[in-house]
Amino acid sequence: MELYRFLHQQGFGSRKECRQLVEYGLVELSGSVCDDWRLDVDPAALACLVVDGEPWTPQAGPLYLLLNKPAGYETSHKPMHNPTVYGLLPWQFVNRGVSAVGRLDVDTTGLLLFSSDGQFVHALTSPRRHVPKCYLATVKHPLTDAQLDALRAGVYLKDDDERVVADEAVADDAHTLRLTISQGKYHQVKRMVAAAGNRVTALHRVSLGGLALGGLPEGQWRHLAADELAALG
Ligand code: URA
Repeated sequence: MELYRFLHQQGFGSRKECRQLVEYGLVELSGSVCDDWRLDVDPAALACLVVDGEPWTPQAGPLYLLLNKPAGYETSHKPMHNPTVYGLLPWQFVNRGVSAVGRLDVDTTGLLLFSSDGQFVHALTSPRRHVPKCYLATVKHPLTDAQLDALRAGVYLKDDDERVVADEAVADDAHTLRLTISQGKYHQVKRMVAAAGNRVTALHRVSLGGLALGGLPEGQWRHLAADELAALG
């Protein structure tokens, strides 16, 4: 594959921009500047690539990424009032069309999955696909058995006539609710907790369909491992 096409495929810009990157001497292969944008490269053998001073590890095929989202970021390509979560990912991945699998509220932290595979994103966000999502919610008032029972039995959300049931609702301590749900309604956890008579003051997503952050620091991302991807089906 010609070098500029490969750079384009990796998300470094339009084909023209990628030709210019090479012409301007900004691309190094195995330690030397390469100024031939037509150079035939074997993507699988490009171990040592530096673009504009930054080492780059080539990634073939669609991207599947996990982010530990910090508070204060909007899950949107066009954020209204806060920075976007996409700013926490390499811009080359954003050029390759990564989208979040569902959304987390601006003040919610934790596991957010992204992919450039549109079918994958669509399948996982489909209401027919009941992917379990586990949250830790800090609540304002001490949790009561009645509230936990209500969440497990199902509650009616304001402005919604469908009852939503928690797969799991347990008190880790008086103010920490561990809640697992399989739907993805707007502000669902906050609305369920409100319907049960309490209030969420902080929310963290711990897992999604068997995926966990596994010690990933806040604000950092990582690629999904092959077995994690396979387990999502
Ligand atoms: N439920 C909410 O209320 N907020 C989130 O960010 C995710 C689930």
